[in-house]
Order: sequence, then C-alpha cells, then structure tokens
Amino acid sequence: MAEAPETTEPQVRLDEIVALCKRRGFIFPSSEIYGGIGSTYDYGHYGVLLRHNLKNEWWRAMIGERDDMVALDSAILQHPKVWEASGHLEGFTDPLVDCRTCGLRFRADKLEDAQCGRKPSKHPGEFSECDLTEAREFNLMFETHVGPVKDTASVAYLRPETAQGIFINFKNVLQFARKKPPFGIAQIGKSFRNEITTGNFIFRTREFEQMEMEYFVPPAEAEKWHSYWMDERMRWYVDLGIRADNLTLRAHGAEELSHYSSATSDIEYLFPMGWSELEGIANRGDFDLKQHAKASGEKLEYFDQEKGEAYVPHVIEPAAGVDRAMLAFIVDAYDAEEVEGRKRTLLRLHPKLAPVKAAVLPLVSRDGMPERAREIYEQVRARVPAEYDEGGSIGKRYRRQDEIGTPWGITIDGQTMEDGTVTLRDRDTLEQERVPAEGLADLLAGKLAEPWRSPKLA
Ligand code: ATP
Repeated sequence: MAEAPETTEPQVRLDEIVALCKRRGFIFPSSEIYGGIGSTYDYGHYGVLLRHNLKNEWWRAMIGERDDMVALDSAILQHPKVWEASGHLEGFTDPLVDCRTCGLRFRADKLEDAQCGRKPSKHPGEFSECDLTEAREFNLMFETHVGPVKDTASVAYLRPETAQGIFINFKNVLQFARKKPPFGIAQIGKSFRNEITTGNFIFRTREFEQMEMEYFVPPAEAEKWHSYWMDERMRWYVDLGIRADNLTLRAHGAEELSHYSSATSDIEYLFPMGWSELEGIANRGDFDLKQHAKASGEKLEYFDQEKGEAYVPHVIEPAAGVDRAMLAFIVDAYDAEEVEGRKRTLLRLHPKLAPVKAAVLPLVSRDGMPERAREIYEQVRARVPAEYDEGGSIGKRYRRQDEIGTPWGITIDGQTMEDGTVTLRDRDTLEQERVPAEGLADLLAGKLAEPWRSPKLA
C-alpha cells in the first residue's frame, strides 16, 4: 500500500455537504415522500447542470481534444453470456457477513467502516451480543428477467460496469473507425451494483454513472500507456480545480487486484470520511478480448498490415464515477468564511463546472431596473448559462448564488440607468468593478475561457 500523503484532515463534514446539496436543490434522497430508498438519490436542477458540465469536460478531454478516440453508447442489458465470459458471474463478488442477532449485513473486508445495529453504535463484532456468520461471497450484479416468462432462460443482468459494452463492440468499432492501436473507445453510462455497504451520500450508491474509456495498445506498450493515463487523469482533476494535495495515486497490492487486472492504481481523494477511491486506472491486459473471443467464437484482434500479423491488443482503462467525482468537486469547492460579521458559505467551483456562470440581479424591483436587467440577462445567456433573479434582498440573492457556486454576479442599479454600466461581482474575491453593460456577454465568455485555479491555493 502506498503511503498516505501528509494532508489527512478532511476540511469539511459530510453532513454539511448533504445539507447544502438539499437546501440548494442539487441532490435529494430518492422517494423521500415514501421514506426514501437506501442509498439512491435524485438530482435536482443544479445537480443536473453540474453533472452535465462534469461529463462534458470528460467528453472534451477524451473525444473533443484527441484524434485517437471514438465514442460509444452501449445498452445496459446485454446477453447473459457477456457476464459469464467477463468473469463477473463468478468473480464480481464481495465477502459478506450476516449478524444473526441484528439481521444486518456487512462487507467482511470493510467491518471497520460499518456501524453495528445496536446503540451506542460500534463496529460489527464489538458487542458481546454480535453473532457474525462466516464470510461468504455475494454477487453484486442485479438480476432481472427479460420478456414475459420468468424462468432461468430469461435471466439478464443490469450491467455492473460499462466496460464490457466496449469490449463486445471492439470488432464493430474497428471496422467502421479504421483506427489502429493505440486508440480508445469512450463511454458514459449508468451502471448498477447491489452494494452491501452503502452510505456516505453519493460516494457509493446502487445505481450510478460511470465514465469509462478502454485504450487498446500493442502489448509491449501497455506499461507505458498505463503510466501515461495515470498522469492524464490526475491532471484532469487538477485542471478542473481540485487541489493536488487532496489527490493521491495508490497502486493496488496483489491481493486487491480485480479478477481481470494485471495492475491497477487508484486516484484517491481526501473525502470527508477519509482517503477513498475516486477513479481506478487498470491495466486489463488482453483478458477481456480473449475471454469474449473464446466464448463467442469471433476473432477479436487487430491485424497489423505492416508486420503481416494479428495480435490481441492490451487494454488500459481509466474508470471514473460521475457521482463520486461530483462529490469530490463539491467537497473541494466548499468553503465557509466570515464577511462583515456574517457567515458566508460558498462553492468555489471551477467556472467551467459551475451550474450557472452569471446571475443578473436588479438592485430593486422598480425604477425600470427589472426591465433593463432582463434585457442584459437575455444578452448574457445567449453566450453563457445565466440566471435572472429579482426576488428578496440583494444580500440574500448573492448568498444563494454563492452557495450554488455562480462565479459572477451582475447588478443593475441606479447608475446603470444613467451611464449604462453594471457592477460585476467576483464570487471568490468579492471584488466589485463597474463595467459597461455593452459587451458584457463577450467579457464573461472570455473569463470563462481563461485558466482557473482554486483561490484556496493562494
Ligand atoms: P470501490 O472499491 O469503491 O467499490 P471499485 O474499485 O469497485 O470501487 P471500479 O469497478 O473500479 O470501482 O469502478 C470505477 C469507478 O466507478 C470507481 O472509481 C468509482 O468512481 C465508480 N463507482 C464504482 N462503484 C460505485 C458505486 N457503487 N457508487 C458510485 N460510484 C461507483
């Protein structure tokens, strides 16, 4: 196990994050009016916008800025043989223990993270009443039935990862995309796992979204590309504003490796509950293509015209979770400070990730200000995502925008009506400058394109 980096103190509590997400409409517990359903969440307006921006940035890094990548969107339901060949039916398991006394189930390898059902809560096994069973392997795949007949022939699984959809399309992609290794196939989509240990908000849920890319390389180059993708993926988080001190790369020990992997490193983030996996970067070797070739009878290989020989490429996989990344970005951006005797809570999100880039606010709802503000708003939102708000005191409106992470506030006041200037307020520095309303949309679009680093680093 790699040494944990020096920063070990999380800077914000998870309940503060949960409260802000609920209060500002980012994330709600699912089915709340019925008492909720364990570890399942619904995303509200700002949550959807933030997720959208996050996925967009991943997509830009994978597809938009590269020539060696193609996109895919494979189905959630796949032939059951996919999961037999991939090893998931047999090997996608976690060790499970039951407590005969309280009836709760725990992951045997994560007992120190779990809470026993008794009060005051301790770890499972710590009370004399605890009566834990031996560990047994529990498959995390959700089983369902396809069609009207519910028999063994109709069994199907909700995919537990998006990667297999990529491997089973290797031949299709190769034929149409005419790429040669090294090249990648990228996909974003939902995955499902019947996790035993949940909790920690959206860190581990049973339904989640993954951003996965399989990079097919000549076998001799696998190690080189593995380290290339570790660097690239670390850089992606840092460029989007995560402080490098809160990130670390940890190589898996031999006993931890997944059934398909010859080497994996996790990017870990200092979440409120401690250092935990944010993204896995695996060297999957030729395991998946070979398994599917054997099980399907299809040739899943690349024919190298120059050398006149066929080979099975090796695969490097950066696999990230949208929900987990979203939690990391929110945690890293969360800040609370005292301004003129009042507490200010804010999300110092990278402007590219911020759900709303600019808020247009008339100082008061009279004297022609709302009308002028709406005109300016129409111009601004044609260039950058913006919001118009005229309800309540200006201070209250700013507080709301700070908490959803809006980087720029534009106030239309008496002076605007006289000289056509507005105040432009910076979320992070709280500096206000007067700028002409004319050209404001261009000014904001320019600011959005500028490189950005977290003001917490200053
Ligand atoms: P963990 O050890 O935390 O269970 P894993 O190693 O099983 O994760 P992978 O199979 O490597 O996870 O999946 C890649 C990424 O998908 C993870 O790094 C994480 O960001 C995300 N992910 C996996 N399982 C979940 C889940 N149950 N909820 C939310 N995100 C998940």
